[in-house]
Amino acid sequence: MLIIPERNIADLMTREAAFDAVEKIFAAMASGDAYNFPVVREAIGHEDALYGFKGGFDRAGLTLGLKAGGYWPNNLDKRGLINHQSTVFLFDPDTGKPSAMVGGNLLTALRTAAASSISIKHLARADAKIIGMIGAGHQATFQLCAALEQRNFEKVIGWNYHPEMLPKIEKVALEAGIPFEAVALPGMRDADVIVSITSAFAPSLMDDHVSPGTHLACMGTDTKGKQEVEASLLAHSLVFTDEIGQSISIGEAQHAVAKGLISESDIAQLGAVINGTHPGRTSDDQITLFDGTGVGLQDLAVAAAVVDLAVARGIAAEVDF
Ligand code: NAD
Repeated sequence: MLIIPERNIADLMTREAAFDAVEKIFAAMASGDAYNFPVVREAIGHEDALYGFKGGFDRAGLTLGLKAGGYWPNNLDKRGLINHQSTVFLFDPDTGKPSAMVGGNLLTALRTAAASSISIKHLARADAKIIGMIGAGHQATFQLCAALEQRNFEKVIGWNYHPEMLPKIEKVALEAGIPFEAVALPGMRDADVIVSITSAFAPSLMDDHVSPGTHLACMGTDTKGKQEVEASLLAHSLVFTDEIGQSISIGEAQHAVAKGLISESDIAQLGAVINGTHPGRTSDDQITLFDGTGVGLQDLAVAAAVVDLAVARGIAAEVDF
Protein backbone atom coordinates (compact mmCIF):
# COMPACT_ATOMS: atom_id res chain seq x y z
CA MET A 1 0.00 0.00 0.00
CA LEU A 2 1.27 3.48 -0.88
CA ILE A 3 1.03 6.34 1.58
CA ILE A 4 0.95 9.98 0.47
CA PRO A 5 0.78 12.18 3.58
CA GLU A 6 -0.98 15.53 3.62
CA ARG A 7 2.35 17.38 3.85
CA ASN A 8 3.41 16.08 0.40
CA ILE A 9 0.24 16.97 -1.49
CA ALA A 10 1.05 20.66 -2.11
CA ASP A 11 4.32 19.76 -3.85
CA LEU A 12 2.79 16.98 -5.93
CA MET A 13 -0.66 18.09 -7.03
CA THR A 14 -1.33 20.81 -9.57
CA ARG A 15 -4.49 22.68 -10.51
CA GLU A 16 -4.14 21.23 -14.02
CA ALA A 17 -4.01 17.63 -12.75
CA ALA A 18 -7.04 18.26 -10.50
CA PHE A 19 -8.94 19.83 -13.40
CA ASP A 20 -8.22 16.89 -15.73
CA ALA A 21 -9.09 14.28 -13.09
CA VAL A 22 -12.40 15.93 -12.16
CA GLU A 23 -13.40 16.64 -15.77
CA LYS A 24 -12.83 12.95 -16.62
CA ILE A 25 -14.79 11.72 -13.62
CA PHE A 26 -17.75 14.03 -14.35
CA ALA A 27 -17.78 12.61 -17.87
CA ALA A 28 -17.61 9.01 -16.57
CA MET A 29 -20.49 9.70 -14.14
CA ALA A 30 -22.65 11.03 -16.98
CA SER A 31 -21.90 8.06 -19.23
CA GLY A 32 -22.73 5.60 -16.43
CA ASP A 33 -19.16 4.35 -16.06
CA ALA A 34 -18.77 5.72 -12.54
CA TYR A 35 -21.14 6.01 -9.63
CA ASN A 36 -21.13 7.38 -6.10
CA PHE A 37 -22.20 5.35 -3.10
CA PRO A 38 -24.74 6.73 -0.62
CA VAL A 39 -23.09 9.28 1.66
CA VAL A 40 -22.80 8.58 5.39
CA ARG A 41 -22.60 11.69 7.63
CA GLU A 42 -22.97 11.42 11.40
CA ALA A 43 -22.85 13.77 14.37
CA ILE A 44 -20.73 11.43 16.50
CA GLY A 45 -21.51 13.03 19.88
CA HIS A 46 -17.83 13.77 20.60
CA GLU A 47 -16.05 17.14 20.16
CA ASP A 48 -19.19 18.31 18.26
CA ALA A 49 -17.67 16.51 15.25
CA LEU A 50 -19.43 15.60 12.02
CA TYR A 51 -17.86 12.51 10.51
CA GLY A 52 -18.70 10.53 7.40
CA PHE A 53 -17.77 8.61 4.27
CA LYS A 54 -18.11 9.46 0.60
CA GLY A 55 -17.25 6.62 -1.73
CA GLY A 56 -17.67 5.38 -5.25
CA PHE A 57 -16.36 3.30 -8.10
CA ASP A 58 -15.11 4.40 -11.49
CA ARG A 59 -15.30 1.34 -13.75
CA ALA A 60 -13.56 3.17 -16.59
CA GLY A 61 -10.60 4.47 -14.57
CA LEU A 62 -10.71 1.48 -12.17
CA THR A 63 -10.72 3.73 -9.11
CA LEU A 64 -12.46 2.33 -6.04
CA GLY A 65 -12.47 3.82 -2.58
CA LEU A 66 -13.75 6.36 -0.14
CA LYS A 67 -12.99 9.62 1.58
CA ALA A 68 -13.40 9.47 5.35
CA GLY A 69 -13.49 12.63 7.37
CA GLY A 70 -15.52 15.60 8.40
CA TYR A 71 -15.55 18.69 10.55
CA TRP A 72 -14.08 19.09 14.04
CA PRO A 73 -15.09 22.62 15.11
CA ASN A 74 -12.73 22.76 18.11
CA ASN A 75 -9.56 21.71 16.28
CA LEU A 76 -8.16 25.14 15.55
CA ASP A 77 -8.79 26.70 18.96
CA LYS A 78 -7.87 23.66 21.06
CA ARG A 79 -5.12 22.03 19.03
CA GLY A 80 -3.96 24.38 16.27
CA LEU A 81 -5.23 21.95 13.63
CA ILE A 82 -7.56 22.81 10.76
CA ASN A 83 -11.21 21.99 11.45
CA HIS A 84 -11.84 20.06 8.21
CA GLN A 85 -10.01 16.71 8.27
CA SER A 86 -10.16 14.04 5.60
CA THR A 87 -8.24 11.06 4.25
CA VAL A 88 -8.80 9.16 1.01
CA PHE A 89 -8.44 5.36 0.90
CA LEU A 90 -8.10 3.65 -2.49
CA PHE A 91 -8.57 -0.07 -3.10
CA ASP A 92 -7.55 -2.45 -5.87
CA PRO A 93 -10.88 -3.15 -7.64
CA ASP A 94 -9.60 -6.58 -8.75
CA THR A 95 -8.85 -7.83 -5.25
CA GLY A 96 -10.32 -5.44 -2.68
CA LYS A 97 -6.88 -4.92 -1.14
CA PRO A 98 -6.08 -1.36 -0.03
CA SER A 99 -3.77 0.31 -2.54
CA ALA A 100 -3.25 3.82 -1.16
CA MET A 101 -3.91 6.15 1.75
CA VAL A 102 -3.80 9.82 0.74
CA GLY A 103 -4.13 13.06 2.73
CA GLY A 104 -7.44 14.59 1.65
CA ASN A 105 -7.48 18.15 3.00
CA LEU A 106 -5.78 20.14 0.24
CA LEU A 107 -7.17 17.71 -2.35
CA THR A 108 -10.71 18.61 -1.24
CA ALA A 109 -10.01 22.29 -1.86
CA LEU A 110 -8.45 21.58 -5.27
CA ARG A 111 -11.18 19.22 -6.49
CA THR A 112 -13.88 21.71 -5.44
CA ALA A 113 -12.11 24.53 -7.26
CA ALA A 114 -11.71 22.30 -10.30
CA ALA A 115 -15.47 21.65 -10.42
CA SER A 116 -16.48 25.31 -10.77
CA SER A 117 -13.61 25.89 -13.18
CA ILE A 118 -14.81 23.01 -15.38
CA SER A 119 -18.31 24.47 -15.35
CA ILE A 120 -16.91 27.82 -16.54
CA LYS A 121 -14.96 26.11 -19.31
CA HIS A 122 -18.04 24.37 -20.65
CA LEU A 123 -20.87 26.81 -19.87
CA ALA A 124 -19.66 30.42 -19.62
CA ARG A 125 -19.79 32.71 -22.64
CA ALA A 126 -16.50 32.71 -24.54
CA ASP A 127 -16.29 36.52 -24.22
CA ALA A 128 -16.75 36.60 -20.41
CA LYS A 129 -14.71 39.50 -18.99
CA ILE A 130 -15.92 40.16 -15.43
CA ILE A 131 -16.02 37.49 -12.73
CA GLY A 132 -17.97 37.99 -9.52
CA MET A 133 -17.09 36.22 -6.27
CA ILE A 134 -19.62 35.69 -3.49
CA GLY A 135 -17.68 34.46 -0.49
CA ALA A 136 -14.17 35.07 0.77
CA GLY A 137 -13.48 32.12 3.07
CA HIS A 138 -11.05 29.22 2.83
CA GLN A 139 -12.45 27.80 -0.43
CA ALA A 140 -13.02 31.14 -2.18
CA THR A 141 -9.35 31.71 -2.93
CA PHE A 142 -9.04 28.24 -4.50
CA GLN A 143 -12.22 28.75 -6.56
CA LEU A 144 -11.01 32.12 -7.87
CA CYS A 145 -7.51 30.88 -8.77
CA ALA A 146 -8.92 28.01 -10.81
CA ALA A 147 -11.68 30.13 -12.39
CA LEU A 148 -9.29 32.81 -13.63
CA GLU A 149 -7.61 30.21 -15.88
CA GLN A 150 -10.74 29.65 -17.95
CA ARG A 151 -11.38 33.00 -19.65
CA ASN A 152 -9.57 36.27 -20.33
CA PHE A 153 -11.04 37.95 -17.28
CA GLU A 154 -10.31 41.68 -17.02
CA LYS A 155 -11.86 42.38 -13.62
CA VAL A 156 -12.85 40.58 -10.41
CA ILE A 157 -15.73 41.94 -8.36
CA GLY A 158 -16.50 40.54 -4.93
CA TRP A 159 -19.07 40.57 -2.16
CA ASN A 160 -18.88 38.83 1.18
CA TYR A 161 -21.21 38.70 4.17
CA HIS A 162 -18.15 39.50 6.28
CA PRO A 163 -16.57 42.31 4.20
CA GLU A 164 -13.39 42.32 6.28
CA MET A 165 -12.50 38.98 4.62
CA LEU A 166 -12.55 40.38 1.06
CA PRO A 167 -8.80 41.22 0.98
CA LYS A 168 -8.19 37.43 0.76
CA ILE A 169 -9.75 37.25 -2.70
CA GLU A 170 -8.48 40.68 -3.69
CA LYS A 171 -4.96 39.29 -3.14
CA VAL A 172 -5.65 36.40 -5.54
CA ALA A 173 -6.95 38.80 -8.21
CA LEU A 174 -4.01 41.19 -7.87
CA GLU A 175 -1.50 38.32 -7.97
CA ALA A 176 -3.06 37.32 -11.30
CA GLY A 177 -2.66 40.92 -12.49
CA ILE A 178 -6.40 41.59 -12.52
CA PRO A 179 -8.05 44.57 -10.78
CA PHE A 180 -10.47 43.90 -7.94
CA GLU A 181 -13.49 45.86 -6.76
CA ALA A 182 -15.71 45.20 -3.74
CA VAL A 183 -19.35 45.65 -4.72
CA ALA A 184 -22.83 45.52 -3.19
CA LEU A 185 -24.87 42.53 -4.35
CA PRO A 186 -26.75 44.44 -7.11
CA GLY A 187 -23.29 45.19 -8.54
CA MET A 188 -23.12 41.51 -9.54
CA ARG A 189 -25.26 42.50 -12.56
CA ASP A 190 -21.98 43.48 -14.23
CA ALA A 191 -20.55 39.95 -13.90
CA ASP A 192 -20.40 37.48 -16.80
CA VAL A 193 -19.48 34.65 -14.42
CA ILE A 194 -20.38 34.42 -10.72
CA VAL A 195 -18.95 31.87 -8.29
CA SER A 196 -20.66 31.57 -4.91
CA ILE A 197 -18.90 29.68 -2.11
CA THR A 198 -20.42 30.50 1.28
CA SER A 199 -21.84 28.56 4.18
CA ALA A 200 -25.09 30.57 4.09
CA PHE A 201 -28.51 29.21 5.04
CA ALA A 202 -30.38 32.04 3.28
CA PRO A 203 -29.96 33.43 -0.23
CA SER A 204 -27.60 36.36 -0.78
CA LEU A 205 -27.71 36.60 -4.57
CA MET A 206 -31.22 37.47 -5.73
CA ASP A 207 -32.80 36.89 -9.09
CA ASP A 208 -32.51 40.54 -10.15
CA HIS A 209 -28.79 40.66 -9.29
CA VAL A 210 -28.01 38.41 -12.27
CA SER A 211 -27.90 39.61 -15.89
CA PRO A 212 -28.87 37.55 -18.95
CA GLY A 213 -25.96 35.53 -20.31
CA THR A 214 -24.29 35.00 -16.92
CA HIS A 215 -22.83 31.68 -15.85
CA LEU A 216 -23.18 30.91 -12.14
CA ALA A 217 -21.28 28.26 -10.23
CA CYS A 218 -23.03 27.73 -6.88
CA MET A 219 -20.54 25.77 -4.81
CA GLY A 220 -21.35 26.41 -1.15
CA THR A 221 -24.59 24.50 -0.74
CA ASP A 222 -23.74 20.91 0.15
CA THR A 223 -26.16 20.25 3.01
CA LYS A 224 -29.90 20.28 3.52
CA GLY A 225 -31.01 23.81 4.44
CA LYS A 226 -28.03 25.73 3.03
CA GLN A 227 -28.83 28.25 0.28
CA GLU A 228 -26.87 30.88 -1.65
CA VAL A 229 -29.15 32.15 -4.44
CA GLU A 230 -32.84 32.96 -4.75
CA ALA A 231 -34.73 29.83 -5.79
CA SER A 232 -36.62 31.60 -8.61
CA LEU A 233 -33.29 32.15 -10.39
CA LEU A 234 -33.13 28.43 -11.11
CA ALA A 235 -36.52 28.52 -12.82
CA HIS A 236 -35.18 30.60 -15.70
CA SER A 237 -31.65 29.18 -15.79
CA LEU A 238 -30.27 26.12 -17.55
CA VAL A 239 -29.36 24.08 -14.48
CA PHE A 240 -26.43 21.64 -14.41
CA THR A 241 -24.91 19.68 -11.58
CA ASP A 242 -22.33 17.06 -10.69
CA GLU A 243 -24.93 14.57 -9.45
CA ILE A 244 -28.67 15.09 -9.79
CA GLY A 245 -29.62 13.10 -6.67
CA GLN A 246 -27.44 15.36 -4.51
CA SER A 247 -28.50 18.54 -6.33
CA ILE A 248 -32.17 18.07 -5.44
CA SER A 249 -31.57 16.89 -1.87
CA ILE A 250 -28.53 18.76 -0.51
CA GLY A 251 -27.56 21.13 -3.35
CA GLU A 252 -28.74 24.57 -4.38
CA ALA A 253 -31.60 23.05 -6.41
CA GLN A 254 -33.22 21.58 -3.25
CA HIS A 255 -35.11 24.87 -2.69
CA ALA A 256 -36.38 25.37 -6.26
CA VAL A 257 -37.50 21.72 -6.35
CA ALA A 258 -39.22 21.96 -2.94
CA LYS A 259 -41.10 25.07 -4.13
CA GLY A 260 -42.17 23.30 -7.34
CA LEU A 261 -40.29 25.85 -9.49
CA ILE A 262 -38.24 23.16 -11.25
CA SER A 263 -38.22 19.38 -11.23
CA GLU A 264 -35.49 16.78 -11.32
CA SER A 265 -35.88 16.43 -15.10
CA ASP A 266 -34.93 20.12 -15.56
CA ILE A 267 -31.41 19.41 -14.24
CA ALA A 268 -28.63 17.98 -16.41
CA GLN A 269 -25.25 16.55 -15.50
CA LEU A 270 -22.27 18.72 -16.39
CA GLY A 271 -20.64 15.49 -17.54
CA ALA A 272 -23.20 15.24 -20.33
CA VAL A 273 -21.96 18.58 -21.70
CA ILE A 274 -18.36 17.34 -21.41
CA ASN A 275 -19.34 14.16 -23.29
CA GLY A 276 -21.21 16.12 -25.95
CA THR A 277 -24.55 14.43 -25.24
CA HIS A 278 -26.03 17.72 -23.94
CA PRO A 279 -25.51 20.94 -25.92
CA GLY A 280 -24.97 23.10 -22.82
CA ARG A 281 -25.38 26.84 -23.45
CA THR A 282 -27.03 27.47 -26.82
CA SER A 283 -27.36 31.26 -26.75
CA ASP A 284 -25.48 34.25 -25.34
CA ASP A 285 -28.41 35.44 -23.25
CA GLN A 286 -29.15 32.21 -21.39
CA ILE A 287 -28.28 32.05 -17.71
CA THR A 288 -26.44 28.81 -16.95
CA LEU A 289 -26.14 27.59 -13.35
CA PHE A 290 -23.88 24.83 -12.09
CA ASP A 291 -24.96 23.37 -8.75
CA GLY A 292 -21.70 21.89 -7.44
CA THR A 293 -22.56 19.63 -4.52
CA GLY A 294 -19.28 17.73 -4.21
CA VAL A 295 -19.13 13.97 -4.80
CA GLY A 296 -16.88 11.24 -3.47
CA LEU A 297 -15.69 10.30 -6.95
CA GLN A 298 -14.09 13.75 -7.27
CA ASP A 299 -12.00 12.95 -4.19
CA LEU A 300 -11.03 9.52 -5.48
CA ALA A 301 -10.11 10.94 -8.89
CA VAL A 302 -7.72 13.56 -7.50
CA ALA A 303 -6.28 11.07 -4.99
CA ALA A 304 -5.58 8.58 -7.79
CA ALA A 305 -3.93 11.37 -9.79
CA VAL A 306 -1.69 12.33 -6.88
CA VAL A 307 -0.70 8.68 -6.37
CA ASP A 308 0.37 8.54 -10.03
CA LEU A 309 2.38 11.75 -9.61
CA ALA A 310 4.05 10.44 -6.42
CA VAL A 311 4.95 7.13 -8.10
CA ALA A 312 6.32 8.95 -11.16
CA ARG A 313 8.53 11.08 -8.87
CA GLY A 314 9.56 8.06 -6.82
CA ILE A 315 8.39 9.54 -3.51
CA ALA A 316 5.42 7.35 -2.59
CA ALA A 317 6.09 5.57 0.71
CA GLU A 318 5.20 1.87 0.43
CA VAL A 319 4.15 -0.35 3.34
CA ASP A 320 3.54 -4.07 3.24
CA PHE A 321 -0.09 -4.25 4.37
P1 NAD B 1 -15.31 29.20 5.43
O1 NAD B 1 -15.87 29.02 6.79
O2 NAD B 1 -13.85 29.40 5.27
O3 NAD B 1 -16.04 30.45 4.71
C1 NAD B 1 -17.41 30.65 4.84
C2 NAD B 1 -17.86 31.74 3.90
O4 NAD B 1 -19.28 31.92 4.05
C3 NAD B 1 -17.24 33.10 4.23
O5 NAD B 1 -17.09 33.82 3.03
C4 NAD B 1 -18.29 33.74 5.11
O6 NAD B 1 -18.22 35.16 5.14
C5 NAD B 1 -19.55 33.26 4.40
N1 NAD B 1 -20.74 33.31 5.25
C6 NAD B 1 -20.86 32.90 6.54
N2 NAD B 1 -22.11 33.12 6.97
C7 NAD B 1 -22.80 33.67 5.94
C8 NAD B 1 -24.13 34.11 5.76
N3 NAD B 1 -25.03 34.03 6.75
N4 NAD B 1 -24.50 34.62 4.56
C9 NAD B 1 -23.61 34.70 3.55
N5 NAD B 1 -22.33 34.29 3.65
C10 NAD B 1 -21.94 33.79 4.84
O7 NAD B 1 -15.82 27.94 4.59
P2 NAD B 1 -15.23 27.36 3.22
O8 NAD B 1 -14.29 26.26 3.53
O9 NAD B 1 -14.80 28.48 2.36
O10 NAD B 1 -16.55 26.66 2.61
C11 NAD B 1 -17.62 27.45 2.15
C12 NAD B 1 -18.81 26.56 1.85
O11 NAD B 1 -18.47 25.66 0.80
C13 NAD B 1 -19.28 25.69 3.01
O12 NAD B 1 -20.69 25.69 3.02
C14 NAD B 1 -18.75 24.32 2.68
O13 NAD B 1 -19.50 23.30 3.26
C15 NAD B 1 -18.88 24.36 1.17
N6 NAD B 1 -18.04 23.40 0.44
C16 NAD B 1 -18.58 22.82 -0.65
C17 NAD B 1 -17.83 21.91 -1.38
C18 NAD B 1 -18.42 21.28 -2.62
O14 NAD B 1 -17.84 20.32 -3.13
N7 NAD B 1 -19.50 21.80 -3.15
C19 NAD B 1 -16.53 21.59 -0.99
C20 NAD B 1 -15.97 22.27 0.11
C21 NAD B 1 -16.73 23.17 0.82
